[in-house]
Amino acid sequence: MLKDRVKLGEIDKYIDKDVYVYGWLEDKRIVGQVAFLVLRDMTGKVQVTVKKSVKRHLYTHALTIPRQSILKVHGKVNLYGETIEIVPHDIQVLSEAKHPLPIDPTGRVPANLPTIIDNRPLSLRIPTIRAVFQLRALTKQVIREFFINNGFVEVDTPKIIATATEGGANLFEIKYFDRVAYLAQSPQLYKEQLTMGFDGVFEIAQFYRAEKSHTRRHLTEFTSVDLEVAFADYNDVMDILEEMIKYILTEIHKRGKPYLEILGHTPPEPPTSMKRITYDEALEIIRSKGGEIKWGEDIESEGLEKLAEELPGFYFIVDWPWDIKPFYIMRKGDLTESFDLMMGRLELSSGGTREHRYNELRRNIREKGLNVESFDYHTRFYQYGMPPHAGFGLGLDRLMTILSGRENIREVVLYPRDPESLTP
Ligand code: ATP
Ligand code: MG
Repeated sequence: MLKDRVKLGEIDKYIDKDVYVYGWLEDKRIVGQVAFLVLRDMTGKVQVTVKKSVKRHLYTHALTIPRQSILKVHGKVNLYGETIEIVPHDIQVLSEAKHPLPIDPTGRVPANLPTIIDNRPLSLRIPTIRAVFQLRALTKQVIREFFINNGFVEVDTPKIIATATEGGANLFEIKYFDRVAYLAQSPQLYKEQLTMGFDGVFEIAQFYRAEKSHTRRHLTEFTSVDLEVAFADYNDVMDILEEMIKYILTEIHKRGKPYLEILGHTPPEPPTSMKRITYDEALEIIRSKGGEIKWGEDIESEGLEKLAEELPGFYFIVDWPWDIKPFYIMRKGDLTESFDLMMGRLELSSGGTREHRYNELRRNIREKGLNVESFDYHTRFYQYGMPPHAGFGLGLDRLMTILSGRENIREVVLYPRDPESLTP
């Protein structure tokens, strides 16, 4: 089948030739004694012109084909004025579409988000929706490129784990034969371990959080872009992250143009630099705007909103209090060598220097109220020469909302999972 297929995006190369084209019937108009069929595939569309006077049986047949059915058309490509049309010898229905359709795939009758998600495959026929996922695929490619160009090694860490990685309560428990296991919430400890053998490792993978969050930025299954670098501290990885964001934005503006045009969206220009403010400075800004926040508390939505008024673009909040950071982060007194990358009010990434010293790491685990022995499987490697290291995790789905100009994280994930929805 594929051998004879001419893609509709390339139909202009076949003027006056006989071709086989495949696609779905997007639209059908009857004007006088002529049926105009709009055939579309993933690459473009073409008009199929069926004249009653020329092919009576095809004309009659064309009238009966339901919209969105998959057709194979054999015909001659013709230039009619400015329009490329196909004058068919034969039209075959490969798969007939049932009506009514659950959503209008031309996008003319807008559907709400739950209906779109419920009918995801069909929704991909709407150009603005397909463009989001084409942009997403391009973004992953660009990220991979950036890491590979910088000499980092792509790794795959397990998603089925035996113990709670970060001691968090937000783990999904699964039945693992006659034992309990969990779904990984991040590659954190594995990627740290791997800096024993690699200068830098990265992973782009799905992770799981059993959080009952009902926001436009949380999912229970999300895609994380993770990096961990040996012989580096948090300033080094902030530099890398900044470079990565600039590279993504530059490349998306260039290579993503066709998708951005369909989306009618212009992502932010690559910034010349990204401001780095401390947690303490962030609190000052929030308080100066009437916000109430105690030192040592996490910065919640209201505070982030106030910060975004001052810092609307990309910026870092650095040096977070030890009390609200996980055990593996490098401590300095009451603070830590940590950062969040923000885009306005949205947290895109968290990272920092990690504790690489065996005794200090064990002390930190204890101090966080966790059982130190249960982390032996991990901490034992820190006795055999663990390099100082630092890294970050960045939410790809959140980044995609910025790049595609969508409000809700569910719009940039094909089959989003949240506390309520597990289907399709
Ligand atoms: P938040 O405070 O927004 O819930 P977090 O600080 O708990 O996020 P981290 O553990 O720092 O998240 O994870 C690193 C990054 O992964 C986040 O900055 C975010 O971009 C992404 N991320 C984390 N949890 C989710 C989620 N439930 N859904 C989508 N993305 C997430
Ligand atoms: Mg975070």
